[in-house]
Amino acid sequence: PKKRQLSVAEFVEGIIKGDVTILSQAVTLVESVKPEHQAVAQEVIEKCLPYSGNSVRVGISGVPGAGKSTSIDVFGLHVLEKYAGKLAVLAIDPSSERSKGSILGDKTRMEQLSVHPSSFIRPSPSAGSLGGVARKTRETIILCEAAGFDKIFVETVGVGQSETAVHSMVDFFLLIQLAGTGDELQGIKRGIMEMADGIVINKADGDNLDRAKLAATQFRNALHLFPAPESGWTPQVMTYSGFYNLGVKEIWDMIYEYIAFVKDNGYFEYRRNEQSKYWMYESINERLRDSFYHNPAIEAMLAEKEQQVLQGKLTSFVAAKSLLDTYFGELKK
Ligand code: GDP
Repeated sequence: PKKRQLSVAEFVEGIIKGDVTILSQAVTLVESVKPEHQAVAQEVIEKCLPYSGNSVRVGISGVPGAGKSTSIDVFGLHVLEKYAGKLAVLAIDPSSERSKGSILGDKTRMEQLSVHPSSFIRPSPSAGSLGGVARKTRETIILCEAAGFDKIFVETVGVGQSETAVHSMVDFFLLIQLAGTGDELQGIKRGIMEMADGIVINKADGDNLDRAKLAATQFRNALHLFPAPESGWTPQVMTYSGFYNLGVKEIWDMIYEYIAFVKDNGYFEYRRNEQSKYWMYESINERLRDSFYHNPAIEAMLAEKEQQVLQGKLTSFVAAKSLLDTYFGELKK
């Protein structure tokens, strides 16, 4: 038999009580593309908003194989042990759009954390554009906080745009790197390094220790060339081993020191406000884009206009104007 869907009030009550089953169901609604689910989700989010915000949000990024799942497992256990409270691990995986599923945030990747009574692990939403996926993760943060999760990790793979999305919803952005072949800095984009509040070189163990230390020095030198961050905080570079649990405490001491520092100088509040503003415009842009591309008249003529541009029969500006004129005309009907 089909389960009856909870009412908005039941969702909100369950979430605020910290009921993880109800929280999970609410997140499923947030991720749903069905308009009727979205309508309920938006109401639930709105009612949860006053109970949200009281957390430390940390973004964790690194290329596949950098050791994110291994690290998040030990990071999670460490913060729960040292600071108590509850931890939610969420993810933004831009590749999930194509592969119709995401492994980021998969419970089985975090063996110990996944069975910890104070943790909640949720894989990346898979439907929609990066912007859409990211918005859903941001909304999920609100629900988790309302459910009493006072530590939020948002994981992403290091491929560029998704880092910007994660950066726009966390208080601290941690970049996991590996020592490579001597030119570690080559593969990493300047913009991503500039976003980092901390860079940590993983797998600093065994034979790899010296290379990890060398990589750390190179990152430190590179960071010196960047303008001073707005936060007033100097990004730290550290080495550690997730696998052997070495240097993990130091990383989290540093992150909590950062949080205290920016709460004191006002930047914490400022960054969160800026993020709210950013997400307001993102939401507007997403709705407008959706409305435009799903308009039947636009759907009917888009491919043809694109062809005409490709064939040089229309300039891109004329094509765009005719599509937009059609769209605005449809709205007036
Ligand atoms: P992810 O793709 O970023 O989530 O990376 P994983 O956590 O799955 O780790 C990728 C591989 O690196 C696995 O084989 C891990 O066992 C290994 N690994 C992770 N952390 C460490 C570490 O601190 N030291 C060493 N030597 N290996 C590690």
